[in-house]
Amino acid sequence: MYRTHTCGELRASHAGQTVTLSGWVNRRRDHGGVAFFDLRDRSGTIQITINPDLPKEVLDQVANVRFEWVLQIEGLVQKRPDGMANPKMETGEIEIIAKNVTILNPAKTLPFMVSSDADLPDENTRLKYRYLDLRRERLTKNMVLRHKVIKFMRDYLDEKGFIEIETPIMFKATPEGARDYLVPSRVYPGQFYALPQSPQQLKQLLMVAGMDKYFQIARCFRDEDLRGDRQPEFTQLDLEMSYVHRDDVLALVEGLFTEMIPAVTPHKKLLSSPWPKFSYREVLERFGSDKPDLRFGMELVDVSDVFAKSEFKVFQSALAAGGVIKCIVAPKSADMSRKEVDALTEVAKSLGAKGMPTIAISAEGVKGSAAKFVTAEEAEALKSKTGAGVGDLIVFASDARAVANKVLGGLRLWFRDKLDLADKDMMAFAWVVDFPFFAFNEETQAWESEHHPFTMPKMEDLPKFDTDPGAVLSDAYDMVCNGYETASGSIRIHRRDIQMKMFQMLGLSEEDIQAKFGHMLEAFEYGAPPHGGMAPGIDRLVMLLADEPNIREVIAFPKNQTGRDVMADAPSAVEPKQLKELHIKFE
Ligand code: ASP
Repeated sequence: MYRTHTCGELRASHAGQTVTLSGWVNRRRDHGGVAFFDLRDRSGTIQITINPDLPKEVLDQVANVRFEWVLQIEGLVQKRPDGMANPKMETGEIEIIAKNVTILNPAKTLPFMVSSDADLPDENTRLKYRYLDLRRERLTKNMVLRHKVIKFMRDYLDEKGFIEIETPIMFKATPEGARDYLVPSRVYPGQFYALPQSPQQLKQLLMVAGMDKYFQIARCFRDEDLRGDRQPEFTQLDLEMSYVHRDDVLALVEGLFTEMIPAVTPHKKLLSSPWPKFSYREVLERFGSDKPDLRFGMELVDVSDVFAKSEFKVFQSALAAGGVIKCIVAPKSADMSRKEVDALTEVAKSLGAKGMPTIAISAEGVKGSAAKFVTAEEAEALKSKTGAGVGDLIVFASDARAVANKVLGGLRLWFRDKLDLADKDMMAFAWVVDFPFFAFNEETQAWESEHHPFTMPKMEDLPKFDTDPGAVLSDAYDMVCNGYETASGSIRIHRRDIQMKMFQMLGLSEEDIQAKFGHMLEAFEYGAPPHGGMAPGIDRLVMLLADEPNIREVIAFPKNQTGRDVMADAPSAVEPKQLKELHIKFE
């Protein structure tokens, strides 16, 4: 028997018991003939004391032991002497007085320390030795948390009558707006499977099949540009339900998260319950983003009326062009340095602003780049409309409405980070609904679906399909949290005629429609029930719950930021024979 207990489970109540433990040497200290090891396994660490009165063979073995060797220890659990307890360790009240030590496996010197995060090596080194990196307490905890999240989801949905069904990884292109990963067929030369960008079509077909309530911890594959915090493959809780309206789906998912957060991370608080629900228009107007961070205020205020007669050229021309003047009020920022204002102006410009007028309110009056253009009357009206007071900085965007919203939305987040306005233990969930159905792509001069092409438009907007596509709203919804989109979903099209119309609007030819989606259209002819669903992303959620800066920290074996698996070195070349079998030649 390798062990009777795990390292992290022992407590003072075990004192007096003889136990056997197995694990890694996390630390070693030698003190006047006595050696102390911290022995570590997934459950935690415990101090092992090796006294000099042990038999010589044992002491000789122990003399060689280094970090990360794998040991088996038999010993007596003992309370530490008074004043020697270590409150930082969960096992800190006790130690194991070793009776016997067996070396199960020595270890070379590791490429980096795993017992502390103090000297984190660069990320590629960590990923190359991910199996060592995962030994870190922090990453081990992340894996455990991820497991708990997924287990909670499974149990909750099982309880609500959902069944988990696996769907194929080798399938056909399912558009979610990204490029497909393709798998060449050996048996059918020149033909390819596509890895699913999501199980969207399959879960809808499961509804046609009468499965009623489906879920899956689903892997999705999207060949996107790897900017920011993306992975070529990621995991989502994919779910679908029959005979539901939007609010049925929202209630289910809200219930799941509202119960899960306190269960898996008791130190996290929910900002509000029930969650607020905003229309897409409203969040853009108020927060300048379709994934607002609601943990702090600083809402966008439209002050076009205050400046209707302004002498300020910049404001005048924006209004004359049909635009707006909006602002945010940054608390206690009136004395921001010139350098900081310049840095902020650069941020504004990168978001599309031409400039960034500001007014700082001090006890003496108003200062700032726009101050000399603002009359005393306007300043008063501005203060009463925005609630700004002494010490505050008012930052303006005067432009087309969409540009002004985007600029101030970005600046709002800049101030959040600078002024530390958002509580990291707050989870501010909200729903965003009533998205536009189509987006016009200026480049291709064509309408595209804003969500995916299986999303149902609002029934009352159907007549606008041909006359005013831009005004059609969809029955789609996003779940947002702390400035991230954490899920999206929709009520689906279940009627062949509407689905057909949708594909036609997207500019697909009859032939294309048949070749790509013939199976869906046919299925809709055999009694497809009304249905809808959604898909919360698991990586991002666990990242937020674990206070990690990116999703790679909560994925066991992620690709690096350029999409490589640096541990296994993939992608990599394959044997010419394999290519030949797949009928592939390189140009
Ligand atoms: N298939 C969608 C996605 O992966 C989610 C959904 O509509 O249920 O984003």
